[in-house]
Amino acid sequence: MGKIIGIDLGTTNSLAAVWEEGKSCLIPNSFGEYLTPSVVSLGEEGIVYVGKTAKERLISHPDRSVSLFKRFMGTDKTYKIGGKKYHPEELSAFVLRRLKEDAERYLGEPIEEAVISVPAYFNDMARKATKNAGELAGLKVERIINEPSAAALACRGQAQEEDETFLVFDFGGGTLDVSLVDCFDNIIEIIAVSGDNRLGGSDFDEEIARQFCKENDLDFDSLSPQRRGVILDSACRAKCVLSEKKDVTMQVTDGEFRGQMELNNKKLIEISMPLFQRMSVPVKKVVNDGKKDMLEVSKTVLVGGSCKMPAVKQYLRHLLSECRILAMNPDYMVALGAGTYAGIKERKEDIKDLLLTDICPFTLGTGIFNERDAKHLLMSAIIERNSVLPCSRTERFQTVKDYQKNVSVNVYQGEEYYAANNIHLGTIMMGVPLAPKGKETITVCYTYDINGILIVDVTVDSTGEKTRQVITTGAGSISPEEMEKRVKELEKMKLSPAGQESNQMILAWGERLFAQTTGMIREEVGKRLDYFQHLLYVEQDVYKVEKFKSGIKKFFQNVENYLDEAGISWEPDDVDSWYQEEGEEEEETQEECDIWYEGHLTH
Ligand code: AMP
Repeated sequence: MGKIIGIDLGTTNSLAAVWEEGKSCLIPNSFGEYLTPSVVSLGEEGIVYVGKTAKERLISHPDRSVSLFKRFMGTDKTYKIGGKKYHPEELSAFVLRRLKEDAERYLGEPIEEAVISVPAYFNDMARKATKNAGELAGLKVERIINEPSAAALACRGQAQEEDETFLVFDFGGGTLDVSLVDCFDNIIEIIAVSGDNRLGGSDFDEEIARQFCKENDLDFDSLSPQRRGVILDSACRAKCVLSEKKDVTMQVTDGEFRGQMELNNKKLIEISMPLFQRMSVPVKKVVNDGKKDMLEVSKTVLVGGSCKMPAVKQYLRHLLSECRILAMNPDYMVALGAGTYAGIKERKEDIKDLLLTDICPFTLGTGIFNERDAKHLLMSAIIERNSVLPCSRTERFQTVKDYQKNVSVNVYQGEEYYAANNIHLGTIMMGVPLAPKGKETITVCYTYDINGILIVDVTVDSTGEKTRQVITTGAGSISPEEMEKRVKELEKMKLSPAGQESNQMILAWGERLFAQTTGMIREEVGKRLDYFQHLLYVEQDVYKVEKFKSGIKKFFQNVENYLDEAGISWEPDDVDSWYQEEGEEEEETQEECDIWYEGHLTH
């Protein structure tokens, strides 16, 4: 049996891990880094760039580059790049192929199988699309794992602690997932999950951007999409600086407009107080749903990029005062957990007895007739949220009209009272014998497997006629023939060779910096870019390329640092005053957190 890798296919970055020598180990990419940006860019020559190079090309070649496609997994959305349309699962397949090839190079053997993590809120279609993406990338994906459950597994897999109950607080760019986990002996049991899939780092970006507009006489809601994008981008960068430094000056230059705002963590909390209050809701809910007392929870593990915000850590410390807050490595936990699961799946001796039991994070049900208002079907739960997986539940329903010809079973996911307010996953139509209302009955059985994929069986009780459907509407469904065709098409497209990638990355990086700067800096960037292209394509002198590379990278990094600190398009008088070839500038030491948040927040 070949090695299995675990993959965290993230919205912003993706990572791979493998179980080796008794632990889950991250796999470096061709840059020697663990994070591969989930960005795809098509080169004019038909070469596909994935990762860091593609991320640079987002700005230098915006019409040929895409990111954030994970948000639309399992939908019919397409992205047009280089004159061709791609589904999110095809773009994800490029990312998976890159990770697969990097893993093969690193491990020195072919990889045919992967365990991929998905957000807990991913519906059935998005999960299937993720499996399809794996298949398109030439990977067998038998197991999909929920991201917070993967993080829980990583905690247990890394630190063999006593039996305990803990929380996983997974706070990403657009969603918050909170899981309550019980560990005893070799069993890791997810007891309850809750979350807010409309709360994430981007909400903080928006609050900062709104405050910026207020202070600079702009109306956020009536900004052009382009200017709004520039301000949001700058807000996001200011937010990230605050995880390293005490304060930051957010500066925005866009055409004629110039504006700035001072920001520190205290101000950030004040302007985004409602977001902090929303954060506490799923924490309390999950402890209630899991029928635990907060005192039984020994620690909270922080996962996801937004947990890097000192304000978030402090708020949790305040909210969960009795419990240890562990921020081991928010970016890596999910991948490490997926790698641990890959080890379990490979039945590695040191881990084969570890058992992860997961739960269904949402309710699955069907729409039933509403006697008071026939137009608005009601949600009837079949599999309740937090049911242990795999699970199978059966319900019986009867006809509601005299001599009704058909019954339709509409499958919904969600917690809302009215069926239409939940996510519609599919419909199964069945003919029933003509009879007075209430005389005919059908039995509906939902089976939800450990990958979170739903099978619905409907039986007409009087005739015994059965229909089975693996819910396959929308982009989640691809016929085997279509899959083969798409695999062949994607195989024809070549990923950029790993060895040449770093040169392409430097070119794309330079092109972006050229677009972002003005005046002397821009001139200096341009000169280096010209010279590097000359070495690569005219002189083709490998020795000189390598020699020049570290200098140019250092220069670009200094430009980058400068842009981060000063805001884009600020014209300095003299390059020498900010640029130091040796990179001598000292990192500002992080201040110990004050307790100024006391009294600001409510339980
Ligand atoms: P994830 O989905 O886990 O990759 O998290 C992405 C979110 O984390 C985005 O909203 C980022 O803006 C945010 N993020 C990443 N790094 C930082 C940082 N250093 N400080 C604050 N937020 C961050």
